[in-house]
Amino acid sequence: MSALIEARQLYRSFTVNAGMFKAKQTLHAVNGVDLSVQRGDVLGIVGESGCGKSTLARMLLGLTPPSSGSIAIEGRDISSISRLELARRVQPIFQDPYSSLNPRRSIASIVSFPLDVHRIGTAAERRRKACEMLERVGLPLRYADNTPGQLSGGQRQRVAIARALVMQPEIVVCDEPTSALDVSVQAQILNLLMDLRQEFNLTYIFISHNLAVVDHIASHVAVMYLGRVVEFKEAADLFGRPEHPYTRALLDSVLTPETGLGIPDTGLGLSFPDPINPPPGCAFHPRCPQRLPQCSSLRPELDGTGLGQVACHLYSSKAEEGLVS
Ligand code: SF4
Ligand code: MG
Repeated sequence: MSALIEARQLYRSFTVNAGMFKAKQTLHAVNGVDLSVQRGDVLGIVGESGCGKSTLARMLLGLTPPSSGSIAIEGRDISSISRLELARRVQPIFQDPYSSLNPRRSIASIVSFPLDVHRIGTAAERRRKACEMLERVGLPLRYADNTPGQLSGGQRQRVAIARALVMQPEIVVCDEPTSALDVSVQAQILNLLMDLRQEFNLTYIFISHNLAVVDHIASHVAVMYLGRVVEFKEAADLFGRPEHPYTRALLDSVLTPETGLGIPDTGLGLSFPDPINPPPGCAFHPRCPQRLPQCSSLRPELDGTGLGQVACHLYSSKAEEGLVS
């Protein structure tokens, strides 16, 4: 059975003006990602700011085309799927409910917008569907004719969720959906997302730099570092038996307060390497407490370890020869 959504050797680079002389350089935001998500999974994608999570999310939504590689839904490349069908299958929820909602539109018209764009039903039917969805996400109907500025952050995120679900999608790509919210509101929104998953049989791809949030909801986790997946396994195994040294550092960081830069304190310092000039070999080697001689020149590929998939020379054949302490 083919995966519900699958990425194969996905690459995306951007030309940026960088450095002291603002010269044009290439940023490899997503640098060879393979992912496979089964129906009903909640795939958490974690990593520090700048690791390529959001670019990957935009590609899975069909909003940013890959430089190379492919994304398929049930075996069909998304470039061959019509915009209407894609909108019916995959919908986004973005991080910032302050900027992702049009401040001049009413709440009901924001929620019905995807139906309006695709001219689904009459105007009256679209409004009725939008109001039904507002009720499902716990927003009282008296807000239907308000504007986003009159709502709290949590209420606005409920509007964004209603807008995503009004098309009855199968897959929802959530990019940091709770990180702009107060902690108490975050839990309410996460619980709402989990209830809606049951009710609507949804598959989530859930992007977050917050491991506690991912631990709460994910069935599977992919850990990203500089545009690549370095560990991919079931959530219980990832949190219970992390294998990649970067995953271990991230998990240790859950116990330390955030640095205030949106970057968890990994205990590895803030020296997140420059994605324009990523280190050769294993991109993590300058920060890795367990690096081996070959790590600075030989790039490890994602490989099965029995528990899941890990891209690290500690688990390659050399490990069996006794190089691992
Ligand atoms: Fe560390 Fe080497 Fe593994 Fe990279 S490949 S995480 S540098 S041990
Ligand atoms: Mg991001």
